[in-house]
Amino acid sequence: MKILVINAGSSSIKYQLVDMTNEIVIAKGMCDRVGQQSSTLIYKGKSDIRLDDVKMPSHVEAMKFVLDALVHADYGVIKNLSEVSAVGHRVVLGGEDYTGSVVIDETVMKALYANIGLAPLHNPANIQGIEACKEIMPTTPMVAVFDNAFHSSMPDYAYLYAINYDDYKKHKIRKYGFHGTSHMFISQEVERITGKKDNKIVIAHLGNGASMSAVKNGKSIDTSMGLTPLQGLVMGTRCGDIDAAAVEYLVNNTDMDVHQVTTYLNKKCGLLGISGLSSDFRDLEEEYAKGDKCNPRARLAIEMFCYRVKSYVGSYAAAMGGIDCLVFTGGIGENSSIVREKVVEGLEFLGLELDKKANDTAKRGEMTLFTTGKKVKGYVIPTNEEIMIARDTLRLVK
Ligand code: AMP
Repeated sequence: MKILVINAGSSSIKYQLVDMTNEIVIAKGMCDRVGQQSSTLIYKGKSDIRLDDVKMPSHVEAMKFVLDALVHADYGVIKNLSEVSAVGHRVVLGGEDYTGSVVIDETVMKALYANIGLAPLHNPANIQGIEACKEIMPTTPMVAVFDNAFHSSMPDYAYLYAINYDDYKKHKIRKYGFHGTSHMFISQEVERITGKKDNKIVIAHLGNGASMSAVKNGKSIDTSMGLTPLQGLVMGTRCGDIDAAAVEYLVNNTDMDVHQVTTYLNKKCGLLGISGLSSDFRDLEEEYAKGDKCNPRARLAIEMFCYRVKSYVGSYAAAMGGIDCLVFTGGIGENSSIVREKVVEGLEFLGLELDKKANDTAKRGEMTLFTTGKKVKGYVIPTNEEIMIARDTLRLVK
């Protein structure tokens, strides 16, 4: 069976076609600048193709480009679209309606539309991706895989904010958590590596967006992102944890209104805001490598980033009554030895002992044990959200 995995953003569609007999990705790529004057198709199949300046005024046209490429006589990987058994869609927020993936029908579509208010930046694009596929492949089963589903096992005392309980009930204001497919994939990888299910794992998914989770016996019991992906760690451009009263203070003391402050906290803060240089960790590491000549704000951004991750490790170890395993994943987690070193430094009291050589030589795409301690292990594990979506889609359509 072949499963098409779709991750639709507001102006992009990332896709992978996975052959589930051996979980091999047979084609993948992305449509970029969808809805703009000229768009791009990137495709890796039998051969690599890049089409620039093509017209993708909507997600429907973009999906047509993807499907045409998949069946193309020269570089396609299937003969006919009927070979696609099902489509798995990444959906950022299922709210409280779904605690797991679901086959998409009219009731699910209604719930997705109803949840737009809770994820206005993400869910509309995910819905557009689903609608486009439904239009072009009306008889192919579709599955929604929710980013928050893995975190639906959090206990109420962890997911609730201490606001009036009636307001939580009425407006569904609570912590949902995101990156769930990544956290679930990593927790299953740890089960595979350790050969046991009863692990206490702290997972640090550190990419441009970054989140942590506490996973006890295979279940997420807490996570750092909240009602929206703004909460928690310092991210590329998001501030992470901040006193809610800062919003009114910024409105009163700058020329921003509430909406502009929210945009500011999402797009202009984090590593970018602190460093004043870049939201890209590679740029900050390049500065950091200059030693005494490093831009002090770049150093501060790295230190704040690592301090926040470290604080969550401690908090989650406390929440789980201990820690067996700390995992780093995502673009920064998998690549930055500096981040791993700075986070683990000082956590010897928890049983984490850095193996400097293993840490410095860890390669992206490979699993690495980067600590020496016997009781508590630190791993770098490459994440694979797409395979998780494909697996769940297959499970549901079978
Ligand atoms: P992701 O969102 O998981 O793709 O991760 C993107 C983040 O990973 C960006 O901040 C990149 O700068 C960072 N990143 C990618 N490669 C490296 C690297 N070799 N060293 C440090 N950070 C990296």
